[in-house]
Amino acid sequence: MNTSTITSNDLSNCDVFLHIQELKKKMDYIKNGLFVTKNTINNMFGHCESWQVASITATSVLTSIWIWNFIIQDESLYERSKKFIFTQVKKIPKIAKRIHDETKQISEAFENDMMENTKNEKYIVKLPGKGLSREDLIETVNRYLNLGKYKWKEGYISGAVYYYDEKLIELLTEVYGLASYTNPLHSDIFPGICKMEAEVVRIVSDLFHGGPNVCGTMTSGGTESIIMACKAYRDYSRNKWGIRNGVILAPKSAHPAFDKAASYFGLRVHHIDLDPDYFTVDLKKMEKAISKNTILLVGSFPNFPYGTSDDIEAISNLGLKYKIPVHVDCCLGGFIAAFMPLAGYHLPSFDFILPGVTSISADTHKYGYSPKGSSVILYSDKKFRHNQYYVCTEWPGGHYGSPTISGSRSGGIIAACWATLMHFGLEGYISSTKEIIKTKMFVENELRKIKDIFIFGNPTTSVIAIGSKSFNIYRLSDAMNSRGWNLNMLQFPIGIHICITHLHTKPGVASLFIEDFKKELHEIINNPHVEQSRKIAMYGMSATLPDRTIVGDITRYFIDAMYYIPS
Ligand SMILES: *Cc1c(COP(=O)(O)O)cnc(C)c1O
Repeated sequence: MNTSTITSNDLSNCDVFLHIQELKKKMDYIKNGLFVTKNTINNMFGHCESWQVASITATSVLTSIWIWNFIIQDESLYERSKKFIFTQVKKIPKIAKRIHDETKQISEAFENDMMENTKNEKYIVKLPGKGLSREDLIETVNRYLNLGKYKWKEGYISGAVYYYDEKLIELLTEVYGLASYTNPLHSDIFPGICKMEAEVVRIVSDLFHGGPNVCGTMTSGGTESIIMACKAYRDYSRNKWGIRNGVILAPKSAHPAFDKAASYFGLRVHHIDLDPDYFTVDLKKMEKAISKNTILLVGSFPNFPYGTSDDIEAISNLGLKYKIPVHVDCCLGGFIAAFMPLAGYHLPSFDFILPGVTSISADTHKYGYSPKGSSVILYSDKKFRHNQYYVCTEWPGGHYGSPTISGSRSGGIIAACWATLMHFGLEGYISSTKEIIKTKMFVENELRKIKDIFIFGNPTTSVIAIGSKSFNIYRLSDAMNSRGWNLNMLQFPIGIHICITHLHTKPGVASLFIEDFKKELHEIINNPHVEQSRKIAMYGMSATLPDRTIVGDITRYFIDAMYYIPS
């Protein structure tokens, strides 16, 4: 769903497979050596501790502080020694060269994929001497937009585009055009844009049962909303409790935006295990993980991988009991969950009705159906929002303050988001929610009838995650892919998911999905011993690569390929 996520096809290249296989062999070799070292280090560590206790009374106060800092770090001693050893081994010239060669070829394989996807069209690499005519320009834009092989307008994708209607686009384009030059940073010049943003925030607060104190801002997307919340709680916990090394407790299924925020702001995320049956956060483990450095408890309603929802009421109670803020990530499903009760579907409480909930992120650019580039972050109290802002009072250019990461922002996007809310109205959202939930229930019921597969937990809104105990489920997504379907692949444990959008509510789409799914499943069950496709084997392999930095590097090459330009 996210453009930067590696989805089902991107790793399909045979070359990539071969190189990963090579890397895996190397890493397995290193890993075996590591187990021996692990024990050695454990012994050393045991020795260190008793020595440390003794030395505290002696002169080595500084040493014990050093040891303390060495032990108490983000990563466990084992993880760190593992990384250290991998780093050292990778410095051995012969191994370094092999890894360099393999990864270079992986990177080229990604570029080849990109070249194929752009159908070997010529790239423009310099400003045209003379500006293009309107006709040429529009023709070129259309050609670019028609690159890509998926029939997404016909619903062959999971998530990504949540609503598609040419009339709506026409309307929003007109609104965007009217406001495209405005900037809410200059509130004196464009007060109307600020009014629109304030109204969007208020309307969304109201949808999540926010009282008069609930406030927030618009952001550029769900990730920014989450990043802003983490920034706000980092500063809040520093100012209020003097916490320097803040820890966020988030379910393993929570969006990586929390990890991204932690990496930006010097925080740490402690990932909490999921209940193995329900795929929602294990609350006992969450409570046990609470410490004096905990600055935030996170729950998703629902999460991205499984579409299941954490018990927000219980997390809210934990927040109240230990006086820790609680963030509910409603980025994905918020604009469905808010309307489900009104559409006649019961849901447990998940929003500001619960007294422990201090913030909610909800994406207008997902099921709010507005054009990409907008989301809302809400707080139960202004004191949190104040900690989100950035202010600089000493700049020669004047007093500077901005609510989010951006300085200048697009008034056009705010106006288009505002217009989308106005266009749908309560009735519009309730009826589209009904259609989506009906479709989701149809797909879920049909899938549940099929033996050989299972559904992960109980999907709350629109995501259905599928696994299998009898065959490699990646085979199925691969097979569906050959029929034009683009599904999401999950790891730890392996699974696939489909995120039902308004595109799937169009007549025939959901039943075609089920039909294709059954046909391909039948094939797989009847041919259990088919040799694994390279892509599947490769996916399985990267999941087991012991050196995760290599998986990270491969992901970096994948992102590089997005910026591919022929040399
Ligand atoms: C999509 C998503 C996000 C992040 O939103 P972006 O708009 O992609 O930045 C956060 N949380 C969940 C559960 C999501 O599905």
